[in-house]
Amino acid sequence: MSTPAAAHGRAEQVVARATRLSKVYGSGDTRVVALDQVSAEFRRGEFTAIMGASGSGKSTFLHCLAGLDSFTDGSVQIDGVELGTLKDRQLTRLRRDRIGFIFQAFNLLPTLTAMENITLPLAIAGHKPDQAWLDRIVATVGLADRLGHRPAELSGGQQQRVACARALASRPAIIFGDEPTGNLDSRAGTEILSFLRDSVRELEQTIVMVTHDPVAASHADRVLFLADGRIVDELAQPTADVVLDRMKRFDARTRTN
Ligand code: ADP
Ligand code: MG
Repeated sequence: MSTPAAAHGRAEQVVARATRLSKVYGSGDTRVVALDQVSAEFRRGEFTAIMGASGSGKSTFLHCLAGLDSFTDGSVQIDGVELGTLKDRQLTRLRRDRIGFIFQAFNLLPTLTAMENITLPLAIAGHKPDQAWLDRIVATVGLADRLGHRPAELSGGQQQRVACARALASRPAIIFGDEPTGNLDSRAGTEILSFLRDSVRELEQTIVMVTHDPVAASHADRVLFLADGRIVDELAQPTADVVLDRMKRFDARTRTN
């Protein structure tokens, strides 16, 4: 039985799509195919982890999806917009308005309070913060009593929670994280991952996160595995054990190559 597209809920909505996405660095002897015709879809309210050995193309994939890096071939759509058709200024605006980032380094401004850091991108964009939304984010992140503190007065985990709240503040269509828990101890890392999980469940946020940690990946709804610039496997409802098992298999295969 066919279902009309309109009958699908918002959870079915594709927020980001890569189609035969390729990225080549250099030329001649130094030519590296970092992404080799990668196709993937990311749906609203879905939390995806991207895993793969060092050099498999994870960061390149994330940066191309997020409009931070140009690509060589194929296409990327974010929120229905084809990135390849945009001029630089349009791309900058799309990134600002529709995309959130969480990096390994928290990238907070040291002289601003937590709250000022959270609302700074909105201020720069000239957007009035939606107070009800901010209150909800702050409650979800659990920082209500720390909003007046500067980054130096916060733990690493708290700083990363501020960075998460900053990423959520503009209600982006999608949030990209490159090893967002990479600089945190396991307890703070778990806090951030639970928070990202909550933002997916409660705020219908869409998240794509690069990680090398099977425990971090187990917080996602699915895992995409990259090897040599290609998606070689996908795992739904991952557990840390199954992810680890899958990683070992890829490692074994890489070694015998
Ligand atoms: P990962 O994040 O999985 O470790 P990357 O996306 O950083 O992998 O890199 C994928 C491949 O592209 C690697 O072979 C890497 O050496 C190469 N690469 C990445 N960035 C550049 C660059 N700026 N110039 C040349 N080669 C690059
Ligand atoms: Mg990387």
